[in-house]
Amino acid sequence: MTDYPTYAGRASLAKITSWNTFKGMHPTMQERVRGLIEASGGKVGLGQGLRPETQQLQLFLSRHVPDPNGKYSYDGKRWSRLPNVAAAAPPGRSMHEIGLAADLTGDMGFVRDNCARFDLQTFENVNSEPWHVQPVELERSRRSYENNPAWGRPPWSGGGGGGSSSSGDGGSADSSSAAGASAPTSLTPAYRVKPGDSGAGAEVLIEALIARGRLEDAASSRTGTYAAELRPTVESFQSDNGLDVDGIVGPQSWSALLQIVVPGDKGAHARVLQVTLINRGLLNDTGGNRDGTYGPATQTVVTQFQAAAGLGTDGEVGPKTWTALMGEKKHIAVTAAPGTRGAAMHGAVADADDEFDPDDMDVLSVFDGMPIE
Ligand SMILES: [Zn+2]
Repeated sequence: MTDYPTYAGRASLAKITSWNTFKGMHPTMQERVRGLIEASGGKVGLGQGLRPETQQLQLFLSRHVPDPNGKYSYDGKRWSRLPNVAAAAPPGRSMHEIGLAADLTGDMGFVRDNCARFDLQTFENVNSEPWHVQPVELERSRRSYENNPAWGRPPWSGGGGGGSSSSGDGGSADSSSAAGASAPTSLTPAYRVKPGDSGAGAEVLIEALIARGRLEDAASSRTGTYAAELRPTVESFQSDNGLDVDGIVGPQSWSALLQIVVPGDKGAHARVLQVTLINRGLLNDTGGNRDGTYGPATQTVVTQFQAAAGLGTDGEVGPKTWTALMGEKKHIAVTAAPGTRGAAMHGAVADADDEFDPDDMDVLSVFDGMPIE
């Protein structure tokens, strides 16, 4: 099996196929999704396949409010979807809960152009969810599956590779491998960075050190690796900020490195945010998305992320949003620099950012199609 990084540099195909969220899918879905990811040569990754019902509930509640005239029905009430959030089915109604849908990450153009080769359909034109794919045979709805006995019933016999498109041989009653499957990536602190690390955390660290004036703002600084030579720089930063001097960048160091960023901000700290979003797979990796301007495109992504994480959707990236973005359970207590727009906004926007309990993050490991780990 080819072992290559995804476009976002987070997970190899071997890793993706080891996740419970992958293994919990219908065998035929596993086969198709694996085929598409493999064919992409690293451009496409997996956000989530099987989604436990508890997560579906959390997702639904984060995106809907009770409304007597609402379009959706759940728990004996009517609900309306909040503005600017993606669709989420009520618990019991999502194809993810039965392992017959997958949310992909990365190059959505590749997904759109190639999914039919693997008997998958996208929802680009259904719910504006280009990342969401399902088997072509099942049209769009869970009802379509429920009316189609050929696909069997979960839990699926795990393992993958199973059958041709219509065999649907899942459903062996004694299989427990898929039951209780957990999220693909537990909330390990993805951004706890130590010397020798490369990838997402290292890239964000370097950008933050540049923003703090500890590294030159130059291409030569952006190596993507927390190299040994960088350790004295990190340790002097820790020392200057009264932190443990160990060269390991965790919540305390991030608290000192990061800063509140608000829509309209320009500069190095806005770029730290952009690079973080890119490394989370939330923002496409283009030059324009690394321009150090917190513009409308970045704001759209931030507010969608905040909605999915149960935060106020003001676009202000303060301590709670940073904590969620960094995949930390421990609070990252960033502050605004005096005299910046962040400082002004933080005073004015009475703590929209404070509703969020980082310990709740376990049940919301994936923003539909957009992994937040
Ligand atoms: Zn989906």
